Amino acid sequence: MTMTRVSLLSLCLLSSLKLQAQDLRWQQRVEYTMKAALDVTSHRVTGSQKLVYYNNSPDTLSKVYYHLYFNAFQPGSMMDERSRAIADPDRRVMDRISKLTESEIGYQKILSLKQDGADVKHQTEGTILTVNLSKPLLPNSKTIFEMTFESQVPIQIRRSGRDSKEGIAYSMTQWYPKLAEYDYQGWHAYPYVAREFHGVWGDFDVTLTLDPKYIVAGTGKLVNANEVGHGYERPGTKVNRPKGNLVWHFVAKDVIDFAWAADPDYTHDIAQVPNGPEVHFFYQKNERTAESWKKVEDTAVKTFTFLNQTYGAYPYDTYSIIQGGDGGMEYPMCTLILGEGSADGVTGTMVHEVTHSWFQHTLANNESLYPWMDEGYTTFAGSEAIAAIRGTQGNPHRGSYQSYFALVASGLQEPISQHSDHYTTNRAYSTAAYSMGAVFLEQLKYLVGDKNFYTGMRRYYATYKMRHPEPNDFIRIMEKVSGLQLHWYLRYWTGTTKRIDYGIADVQDLQGSTRITLERKGEFPMPLDVVVTFTDGSQELYYVPMNELLGSKPDDGKGTPRSETAVWPWVNPTFSWTISSPLSEIATIEIDPSQRMADINRTNNLRIVNEKK
Ligand SMILES: [Zn+2]
Repeated sequence: MTMTRVSLLSLCLLSSLKLQAQDLRWQQRVEYTMKAALDVTSHRVTGSQKLVYYNNSPDTLSKVYYHLYFNAFQPGSMMDERSRAIADPDRRVMDRISKLTESEIGYQKILSLKQDGADVKHQTEGTILTVNLSKPLLPNSKTIFEMTFESQVPIQIRRSGRDSKEGIAYSMTQWYPKLAEYDYQGWHAYPYVAREFHGVWGDFDVTLTLDPKYIVAGTGKLVNANEVGHGYERPGTKVNRPKGNLVWHFVAKDVIDFAWAADPDYTHDIAQVPNGPEVHFFYQKNERTAESWKKVEDTAVKTFTFLNQTYGAYPYDTYSIIQGGDGGMEYPMCTLILGEGSADGVTGTMVHEVTHSWFQHTLANNESLYPWMDEGYTTFAGSEAIAAIRGTQGNPHRGSYQSYFALVASGLQEPISQHSDHYTTNRAYSTAAYSMGAVFLEQLKYLVGDKNFYTGMRRYYATYKMRHPEPNDFIRIMEKVSGLQLHWYLRYWTGTTKRIDYGIADVQDLQGSTRITLERKGEFPMPLDVVVTFTDGSQELYYVPMNELLGSKPDDGKGTPRSETAVWPWVNPTFSWTISSPLSEIATIEIDPSQRMADINRTNNLRIVNEKK
């Protein structure tokens, strides 16, 4: 290679890097060093936390906020009030918080707090700690917070807590004072009312001390495996366990949170994913788990393999699947799931939580604002992973479409652009987040074609890993990959409750040719795949472009001959075109036989014209 070529190439590289940097927003950074001792008789944690906080924003900060999640588990908390007032409370919560006694509640108390060595003023209101900085934090500078705290682990109500119904001693999630995220939209210091989290990207160095009978599992990599043992040591190496309480030292880099669990009765198994992480399994082995967890272990390896190939590589060395919590909840490099129940049930939950390693713990969108981007995308990718692993046929997203249609019929649907805690009902939230998020993607596949879709998903993952992607970031990637305009689709699906309903209005015999008239009955416009089946069994797909896309999706190459009609402008209530075949040769005309378009009324999508020969 000549010099000129080298410098030209580096120039190109530099300018593409610069372009990419311009596309990505600034983000804050944290480095936590925590030491925590858990007393397993009082269920209290005494902890110290050193936090190096990097302000990469262009703003001068005079305050910072921390989440104190355990404070939600107290009678009269916002979580308690909300659960008792909402029409359809989570059955795991109901009025249980209101009945907790002093020794059963959760709390986090800040005993001392310093900024760069000097005491700072702070106050706690429910689950939010406000810190008034003594020294403003300037743009592109850092500060160090040093804190001591005392917590009480609540009885297991939701996600974190002690003594779960399956007998797991400690589910230690949302367990430490956690700095809220600040970005171009401002602070995200949401009180812990029900659900969804957001965190600052950074590194965690966590030292946990507790009774040596307990086995600890969690985020990160255990760095003192040879002092701990419990299956963490390399096979054949000698464990030198010091006397007294056991110290567990975990390190995790480039994560948004740190979670752990502890139980004296965990079985610890390990499996290696080819070209992927080492997966650790922690569960109480008994007649209710032994069979199903064999399947969990086998399916976990297959899930990582499938997701690595479909979306891009899982970015860490290890992952832990831990029995704990109260359902299934995702954390960086680990999940806590219920361990009992049917093998299909437990593996299904496990696959969903593992999939969150892509859609939340690598692509860390703000779950509170865009829960459909992590729950929905996870539901979508998890359903395809399970279908591939189990070899099941048919549309794996059928259930998501059905729950969306049922929500529409219930009259409870709300726009999905709102904060996840602010939905009127839990049902509207969960259908919006899980089902409508999954339908958003499957329908996007219908809009841009399979090949563009998966290319776009891989580019999205590669571009936004270890960042906080937002809806517009995602749709811009899909626009660039497909060459189609798609922001109208994002706005209709997330900002409104408008629905799709197309129908066949009229089929007219023109003596040797046939005129088909379609009608748009819903307010949500879409381009259409219309399949005409002839009496001899042959088919033709007519693609009806819609002007908002500024183009047409490519032929999917699945074999049905395709032709394109004129463009249907979105304002026109009807659209007609003529096909060269006589009416007598047409058997059926159907709008979107793939049923990937979320048409709320399919009864008018099919017209039977003649019997097939
Ligand atoms: Zn989920």
